Amino acid sequence: MTAPQAPGVRALTREELEAHWMPFTANRQYKAKPRLLSHAKGMHYWTPEGRQILDGVAGLWCVNAGHGRKEVSEAVARSLDQMDFAPPFQMGHPQAFELANAIVKIAPQGMDHVFFVNSGSEAVETALKIALQFQRLKGEGTRTRLIGRERGYHGVNFGGMTVGGMVPNRKVWSAVMTPGVDHLPHTLNIAKNAFSRGMPEHGAELANELERLVGLHDVSNIAAVIVEPIAGSTGVLPPPKGYLQRLRELCTKHGILLIFDEVITGFGRLGAATGAERYGVTPDLITLAKGITNGAIPMGAVLVQRELHDAFMQGARADIDLYHGYTYSGHPVACAAALATFTIFEREQLPARAASLAAHWESAAHALRGLPGVIDIRNDGLIAGFEFEAQPARAPTRAYEVFRACFERGLLARATGNILAFSPPLTISTAEIDQLFAILAEAIRATP
Ligand code: PLP
Repeated sequence: MTAPQAPGVRALTREELEAHWMPFTANRQYKAKPRLLSHAKGMHYWTPEGRQILDGVAGLWCVNAGHGRKEVSEAVARSLDQMDFAPPFQMGHPQAFELANAIVKIAPQGMDHVFFVNSGSEAVETALKIALQFQRLKGEGTRTRLIGRERGYHGVNFGGMTVGGMVPNRKVWSAVMTPGVDHLPHTLNIAKNAFSRGMPEHGAELANELERLVGLHDVSNIAAVIVEPIAGSTGVLPPPKGYLQRLRELCTKHGILLIFDEVITGFGRLGAATGAERYGVTPDLITLAKGITNGAIPMGAVLVQRELHDAFMQGARADIDLYHGYTYSGHPVACAAALATFTIFEREQLPARAASLAAHWESAAHALRGLPGVIDIRNDGLIAGFEFEAQPARAPTRAYEVFRACFERGLLARATGNILAFSPPLTISTAEIDQLFAILAEAIRATP
């Protein structure tokens, strides 16, 4: 594809790069050798110098329908023109209701209410708060403990950080993190499951650790468990066969709410509308973000089971049922972007498209087995992770070096720890899948 016009885009000087303190970035390293993106269309980004970059990670797991979708940008422009902002508290606008109905249509049965937020992190905080208040409304106010999982990622706010299980994201703030949280063990077991295709065979029994935590804290103290159906940000950890089913059974048995954090897995990435659908397990709450607007405008949402929602509606009619919300909850422009994204999602059947590409994706990814230093390849749907042999003395990590080598060769990857993750827009072609893994193989060979 020829690069779309990007008038006025130029590279920035070192001085111009200084003021912006970049998130989750080694700022000094980055600014010494910056990687700038200036425009995007379809499956590609371009740099200010005009280099074409194949997008192997859908931006950041969010541009599910590919870049530069006219329907989305036109809907955003129209919406901005019509009404720039509407207050979300005690007031409404039609598009927020329309969008909630559209989300319910693709949700697992019984999950029929939607609360809007602006990001994945906010969706997590919101879900945790709803879970805690629900237990109290049920008369089980001692259930205040939250259970996360090692190597979970649930955003960066205090609740999400606390239930999350990524050490660097927690260690500095541990003294002020939410008390009353415990963690299940993570499910990664390279010794037994290396190079599994899709869900690994071993590890379902790790869900039984919830029984141990129930024994330790007493069931009367546990409100909810939160897990990603497939852990993405800590390096692509597909759930072992039977694991999520077991977790669901135990949560139901003990009256513990199950929250699926589907910020990555919502909207088609696993070849189904949600991870819940993909794995055949229905939680009580689902967090969504990223793909909801195709990445174009910040937005997130929490989907809840009717029983939970209805428990909040028992008080006096004049009472506010949930003391929670954001100035930009259900922002009209975000709703417009999401509704336009839904139109594409339905017309192009993106989950089915991802499902139909998954087998090709899997064999192309696993064809890289045997390359030097690759100790595991993991995948499900249109997600894949490549883990490299640990080399404690090596800095930056091998994964970061391969990421850089990919970028130099025209491919955007995502490095996390010593793992590279890939998850492209669901509009990718089989030829582009082949191209993606060919570039990756070359980059791995070039960084021994
Ligand atoms: N939850 C999960 C599973 C995520 O993958 C992410 C981000 O990658 C978040 C929450 C946080 O989302 P955000 O960065 O939009 O706050």
